[in-house]
Amino acid sequence: MIKPVPVNEPLLNGNEINYLMECIKSGWVSSEGPFVKQFEQEMADYVGRKYAVAVCNGTAALELAVAALNLEQGSEIILPAFTIISCAAAIIRRGCIPVLVDSDPVTWNLDVGQIEKKITSKTKAIMVVHIYGLPVEMDPVLQLAEKYGLKVIEDASEAIGQTYKGKFCGSMGDISTFSFYPNKHITTGEGGMVLTDSEELAQCCASMRNLCFNPKNRFSHEELGYNFRMTNLQAAVGLAQLERIDDIIQRKRTTGKHYTALLSDIRGFQLPLEFNNYADNIYWVYGIVLKDEVPFDANEMIRRLEQKHIGTRPFFWPMHEQPIFRQKGLFSKEFYPVAERLARRGFYIPSGLALTAEQRVLVADALKTIMGGKDVQ
Ligand SMILES: *Cc1c(COP(=O)(O)O)cnc(C)c1O
Repeated sequence: MIKPVPVNEPLLNGNEINYLMECIKSGWVSSEGPFVKQFEQEMADYVGRKYAVAVCNGTAALELAVAALNLEQGSEIILPAFTIISCAAAIIRRGCIPVLVDSDPVTWNLDVGQIEKKITSKTKAIMVVHIYGLPVEMDPVLQLAEKYGLKVIEDASEAIGQTYKGKFCGSMGDISTFSFYPNKHITTGEGGMVLTDSEELAQCCASMRNLCFNPKNRFSHEELGYNFRMTNLQAAVGLAQLERIDDIIQRKRTTGKHYTALLSDIRGFQLPLEFNNYADNIYWVYGIVLKDEVPFDANEMIRRLEQKHIGTRPFFWPMHEQPIFRQKGLFSKEFYPVAERLARRGFYIPSGLALTAEQRVLVADALKTIMGGKDVQ
């Protein structure tokens, strides 16, 4: 019987259990507990931002980030076509219009050279998303934002601990977001955070996270908020994870480099870049793109890996090809060939923090067999 290799297994081997015990023993389980503020403070310090607002997931963090900017209805926000639905959904739910940009075929991040031609008089913000382990090339984005007076929303969910030219991801936008889903570098089970240096944006997010309770007359509301609060239990786990962030990043990089060593002689694979001129890959997930010469697509690869009990996931499906957005009349007759190709040819292999070197060899063996080469051992 072959032991399956799961696509993601988190590692909870530090103070998680101790801090959770403290919650249980003290009775502090809700969002009022002390770990929430402590986790916010430590994330803000780590990333180098003034304010942090912990929320229940990364999607909620994006909703608050867009809402806090308080843009006029019909404002346009530029974002990559190749991303998770949460980004576009947050824009649409606030009555703004998502405007898409294609990706760079090598880094898989939004192609910053294509932003300027999408800017109109209605453009109010750029939402950058650091994808799969390499950051977005931020300097040109920040220059455009300055030139046209645009806000920058930075989705750093996949880039906790990553840097761009030495600056932490999540420290560069006007407002930035993180997710602590179990496949992210730090997990709280479910969780997210908004970070900013603006007191006004932070207060707005904090109020909206908590139903916009009125400080003077609690149950009389001047605005509609959400309950997006993070619990003390979640923050306890997050704090323990954050203590080990350096080790976590080291593990991710070790995994990425090991996979590259095992897979680089397979013809037909485009592997992630180990580094470029502004960052070292942090390998949020280890993604692979099938070159054109491979006679089958990512779905077929995923099916074959499943037969070998190897967990995989496809890449994101681009925003302009989402049935729900097409139904709303968005993005009709728009084409983003790089994003379309990544969606059809890209998949990722087991990349969780608990993954062992032996498991990576098993995964590489399976891939070599599928690709018709020799097994690695
Ligand atoms: C995971 C992720 C999110 C959403 O986070 P959840 O906590 O799952 O809601 C948003 N953006 C990006 C880029 C992500 O990878």
